[in-house]
Amino acid sequence: MRDQVPGKRRVVVVGAGNAALCAALSAREGGAAVTVLERAPRPEHGGNSRFTMASMRFAYGGLDELQEVAGRLSAEETATSDFGSYPESQFVRDLERMSGGRADPDLVATLVSRSRPTLRWMRGLGVEFVPLYAGQAFEVDGKHRFWGGLTLQARGGGPGLVASLQRAAERAGIEVLYESRAVRLHVEGGSVRGVEVEGPSGSRTLPAGAVVLASGGFEANREWRRQHLGEGWEAAKVRGSRFNTGDGIRMALEAGAARAGQWTGCHAVAWDLNAPEVGNLEVRHRYQKHSYPLGIVVNARGERFLDEGADFRNYTYARYGRKVLEQPGRFAWQVFDSRVSGLLRDEYHQSHASRVTADSVEELAGRLDGVDEEGFLRTVRDFNAAVRRDVRFDPSARDGRSTRGLVPDKSNWANPLDRPPFEAFAVTCGITFTFGGLRVDSLARVLDEDGRPLDGLFAAGELVGGLFYDNYPGGSGLTAGAVFGRIAGGGAAGHDG
Ligand SMILES: Cc1cc2nc3c(=O)[nH]c(=O)nc-3n(C[C@H](O)[C@H](O)[C@H](O)COP(=O)(O)OP(=O)(O)OC[C@H]3O[C@@H](n4cnc5c(N)ncnc54)[C@H](O)[C@@H]3O)c2cc1C
Repeated sequence: MRDQVPGKRRVVVVGAGNAALCAALSAREGGAAVTVLERAPRPEHGGNSRFTMASMRFAYGGLDELQEVAGRLSAEETATSDFGSYPESQFVRDLERMSGGRADPDLVATLVSRSRPTLRWMRGLGVEFVPLYAGQAFEVDGKHRFWGGLTLQARGGGPGLVASLQRAAERAGIEVLYESRAVRLHVEGGSVRGVEVEGPSGSRTLPAGAVVLASGGFEANREWRRQHLGEGWEAAKVRGSRFNTGDGIRMALEAGAARAGQWTGCHAVAWDLNAPEVGNLEVRHRYQKHSYPLGIVVNARGERFLDEGADFRNYTYARYGRKVLEQPGRFAWQVFDSRVSGLLRDEYHQSHASRVTADSVEELAGRLDGVDEEGFLRTVRDFNAAVRRDVRFDPSARDGRSTRGLVPDKSNWANPLDRPPFEAFAVTCGITFTFGGLRVDSLARVLDEDGRPLDGLFAAGELVGGLFYDNYPGGSGLTAGAVFGRIAGGGAAGHDG
């Protein structure tokens, strides 16, 4: 182990995704010598963070504050885009609303108030942010109008984000050890003072003044999924890293940490039926199917089972994976006609997409594998008859163009399915990350059952519980990881070890 700064406190960070690298960089800024442990081999490094589009939600009052993060946008970009604003109060409301009022208010306040300063800090470290035109804006009257509070992504998506943070870590002299799996915390007299690690050359204990756990949730652990999320969840496809099996959570619990958050809950989306069992770094997020608000979704009986237009995609997608998992055979078909096919997101145009097309609804019915044809035709007939045609369709706003009298109704963006050609996409449930985890305070200190900080232990990212319950506002995970990672790293560096 190199000593970047002889005599300085050593901080060990477990994980090498977004939260971990932010923690490592912050600990380094705080003057610590930092070692990052990455369980994955180098080609698979970077955790779920690398699989993402790297869209990051943050509060901004308008264009000036957006540009604090994105840098100066071109005259053309500002002339042709309506970025709107996303005030702190709205971000707080979204987190409260999405969690049914259960999100920890201290964590929410910290996440929201530190969101823009943290992204600005990342920009200073070399992460570039650019407008997220694809999937977060619709063109209305010649302008790209952003909807849903999510406006920027890191340039290059997840790979770009992780590579930028890694370059910054290299520049800062942070050591990253690959194929190095943390297995146990080393506790001395009640204080965490190191990590036991299994690496290419066997087991050893790395001593540390403080440890930051940022090793993701337990979404890639089939046993834990069945045990905590419930029967059936073992069958979900894992959207991201196969290495997030809950090690960090287990180690902290063994050291006396308390649980927090919704252990029965997770983020899960509609995911291509034929996607592999765990994430594929070539395809990354592109197995997702996020344009369902523009069409209808049917199950094996040919019946609709969710309100496709309940809200903007950002506010429903994370809970609709569970709905698909609950259907017979654990699959569904998303159906669109040519009225909206030009509005479908990029992931629908990939060659691997499980897609069928037809020139009539009847023909389509025969092509939907596993679906009752009569049931499907009845659903389309009833749906088309229930659409309120007196309201204008506008995908960039909650347009109120709904159906009337169906169970369930579609609340927005309802169009009759009557313009050939038709296309349909087969989906199943893809799990993104788990909501249950460790209890931390707003200083990212891991707490015990009595609410006391465990000396020397910090945590950030997916393995923290208390922010998300049942649902999730899109783009919050990376921001939460960055905000609390930065705080954790600073705290670990300043810790009296
Ligand atoms: C396909 C997909 C798309 C997504 N899109 C977005 C998006 O656009 N915006 C957004 O905000 N969120 C998105 N998310 C969610 C987002 O990925 C997570 O919220 C975020 O990446 C979590 O970061 P993290 O650092 O906590 O975990 P990760 O990035 O998963 O990092 C965990 C790290 O810990 C390592 N590790 C695990 N166990 C050990 C161990 N025992 N020892 C050492 N290392 C270990 C892993 O190898 C990995 O490097 C997406 C997720 C997926 C899967």
